[in-house]
Amino acid sequence: MFFSGSYSFLKENLLNLIKNIEVGKKITFIVHSNQMKLYLKEYLVKNLGILVNTEFYTLIDISKRLSEIEPLNDFDKEFIIKKFLLEKNLDLDSLPEEFNLLLQQIKEYQIPIINIKSDFVKEIINKYENFKDKKYFDREDVHQKAIEKNTDFKTDYLIIFGIKSVPKLHQRLFLKLKSISQNIFVFLPLIRNSGYFQNYQHFKEVFNFYEDMIENQAIEEKSYDINTKTANLIYKFDYDFKPFENENIRLLKAENPYQEVEFLAYEIINLIEKGNDFKDIAVIIPQIESYIPYIKDIFNKYKIPYYLSEENRYIDYPVFRKLFDIFQLKQENFSKDFVLKILDSNLINIEDIDKIYKEILNLPVIISFEEWEEYFFKEKDNNLYKILKLINDFTEETDLESYINLLKNISNLIKSEELKQFLNEIIENLENNQLYKELFPKLRYKDFLAILKTFFMQEYKENKIRANTISILNPISAEGNNFKYIFFLNLNSGNFPSTIREEILATASELNNIDYPFHLLMQQLSNFASILDKNKKIYLSYVGNGINGEKKAPSFIIEELKRILNIEIEDVKIDKPLSKKDFYIKYAKYLINLDNNLKEKYQKIKEKDLEKTKQDFKYDFVNIQFPISATKFSIYATCPYKFFFEVLMEISDIEQIDREKISPVDKGIIIHKVLENFYKNKDWEELEKQFFKEIEEKIKFLIPSYIPFAYEDAKITFDNLKKFIDWDLKRLKEEQKEPIILEEAYETKDFKGKIDRVDKDNNENYYIYDYKTGKTKIKDIEENIKTKYIQLLIYKRFLKDKKVKEIGIFSINNKNGDFLAKIDDESKLKELDSYLLSLLDQLKNKYFYPQENDYCKYCIFETFCPKDKLKEE
Ligand code: SF4
Repeated sequence: MFFSGSYSFLKENLLNLIKNIEVGKKITFIVHSNQMKLYLKEYLVKNLGILVNTEFYTLIDISKRLSEIEPLNDFDKEFIIKKFLLEKNLDLDSLPEEFNLLLQQIKEYQIPIINIKSDFVKEIINKYENFKDKKYFDREDVHQKAIEKNTDFKTDYLIIFGIKSVPKLHQRLFLKLKSISQNIFVFLPLIRNSGYFQNYQHFKEVFNFYEDMIENQAIEEKSYDINTKTANLIYKFDYDFKPFENENIRLLKAENPYQEVEFLAYEIINLIEKGNDFKDIAVIIPQIESYIPYIKDIFNKYKIPYYLSEENRYIDYPVFRKLFDIFQLKQENFSKDFVLKILDSNLINIEDIDKIYKEILNLPVIISFEEWEEYFFKEKDNNLYKILKLINDFTEETDLESYINLLKNISNLIKSEELKQFLNEIIENLENNQLYKELFPKLRYKDFLAILKTFFMQEYKENKIRANTISILNPISAEGNNFKYIFFLNLNSGNFPSTIREEILATASELNNIDYPFHLLMQQLSNFASILDKNKKIYLSYVGNGINGEKKAPSFIIEELKRILNIEIEDVKIDKPLSKKDFYIKYAKYLINLDNNLKEKYQKIKEKDLEKTKQDFKYDFVNIQFPISATKFSIYATCPYKFFFEVLMEISDIEQIDREKISPVDKGIIIHKVLENFYKNKDWEELEKQFFKEIEEKIKFLIPSYIPFAYEDAKITFDNLKKFIDWDLKRLKEEQKEPIILEEAYETKDFKGKIDRVDKDNNENYYIYDYKTGKTKIKDIEENIKTKYIQLLIYKRFLKDKKVKEIGIFSINNKNGDFLAKIDDESKLKELDSYLLSLLDQLKNKYFYPQENDYCKYCIFETFCPKDKLKEE
């Protein structure tokens, strides 16, 4: 059978197929890429549970399996080509790569070499092929071998999934694969009703090839999801439709890449706060390399966990980088700066490293090994000296064996066991490598470095954190994905689609007339269309300016979507300022206006001679809405000036997103909730269950590596909570009291608020309490009630027809068992009530003077606060 349509259509049909296969039958998948293997496994396992007797191959994997031959990797292939180019004195780094691509193209499309006009190109290709002879095989050779070789590999079901480019060589391979299974299924991510399909003959040929191979007509997707419908219309010259709405798609324009990634981070945080997981989100960037600095900087700032294989190579870790730098000392003329770079106690086995570091720092400029010998190393029995000497003594051209010895000698001077092991693996690999020995009996140091670098550029798999992270992908590796949210960045003209590919070595007419730029354009278009899949929320963004300020145009895909959809391009805006500096920039105009030329006054304040009285802070121009909440009034009680900015002008502190621990506010909310429930039911089991359920909800937003610490902290809090309740229940019993009000809202004409808890005794006396969940100790209860906890006085007024005997604060999280701080003196309570009324009166009369307090050092208005200028009255 042969299915053709969007990935969601293909996956649904695949699921139905697998469900109907008898358990235990062998299923073999051949898929487009390694990444697609992951997506498919993830999708099938999620929907079916475990997968048994199922194997996944890419096209080259299956050819390796059938031929039992390991192909040359790209580096080795290019290294062979390099040899023949060097014989012609051509030492251009990019030329071997060009030959590699050309060879792949002519072999995949089975273009006779005779078609190539250039004798030079033909000669290099012939030399390359002759050198390989029957000993080495490139990927295309391995496919060819797989086609020719008789195999006993059999499978009950062969499923070809997601492969939409089938050059002649691959067609022959597929025909061969027909013999390994009775049941062949093809799932092709092409839609015949799409622009790319209708404009490109190549896709029609692929479609027809599969139909012929399966000997059956394709089952095609008929009804399209809104995203697929949108994708189908791109590049389709059919204007007989009306633009329509598609709420899944947003088009965004950022000023520059930095702003684009900052907006991305901001949106990701919003999605997480709405209950999504990081693993539901993917970021697609056509040229990831150029975005790595922004991703690193901004995602780290927001503490967004992400995985980028380009950032997880050995060379991306400082100590591995330094190890590689050792071998570059010669190229860097043993410069002082470069030697300082490798001076690391984890790297080199050396005593007194700090002293040596300082001594080197004080040296004049050094630019050769001889100068090091002359000015620095009196003592030759020093590992740093030995390393420098080993590198210096190395000749410019020698055999591989000598390079292996160099690696061994350096390894002996290295301190870290991990680095030693890494070097030993390289040594073992090189010792078994016949190709390099055969290619270059004498190897230049430069080429040795290139070989060495390939090991350092490998993915540092042991260090890969497999966790709930954002995936950052290129467009090809995003095909067939399972993400719910996709951010496609840098959709600028020239970046994606990117069709720039110069035909250096052969022209289109020599290569079977393949219009290569058009071929790339159509492949990338179908690639993009496949990402616009069912139910996905897609953000497509481009930048108006490059990082150097140069103007940039959007990709034609953006223009097409504007044509197809009723959609406006949104200018990227970030609502919340993110740093104090951002804050001041954003609110400067407010700050100036609200204090009638604050700027001017601020200047005068700075001039020192301007003392103020409270009267100067009477701002008659403001409107205050009553009743005012008890929490907001506590800000006024602490500092009226702060209240003016924060509550009336709504200029709040910047909320720093902390993904390392549960925020104190969230913790407080959880504790209040579980305590309310507990005192209603007195059910200990329920208390524990509810507490950890609520904690679980918050913990999932944290960075995975911090989760165990957050659990530990939650356990400590819960232990303290239990101790508090034990103590409290005992106290209630002894004092014959009962909680009668739990988290109840009240309102008068002046105030509103929710009382945490009121107890009542047998004599109808009332006791009002607030829960404090932080760890700090209450030092002065009266001072606290006059400021931060003034709500207790407000609550007392809420219950003014009752006999309130005591107000107090329960410090739940107090590890010393100091749980209650209270005031029960009747005259003191009266005095405090008058204090509350006088404060309320001040607020009604619109006084907003600064009042210095313990929290000034954390206050965002501190830099312009005139508190020091307020005259004592
Ligand atoms: S710095 Fe202190 S006195 Fe000034 S506004 Fe902030 S809290 Fe009030």
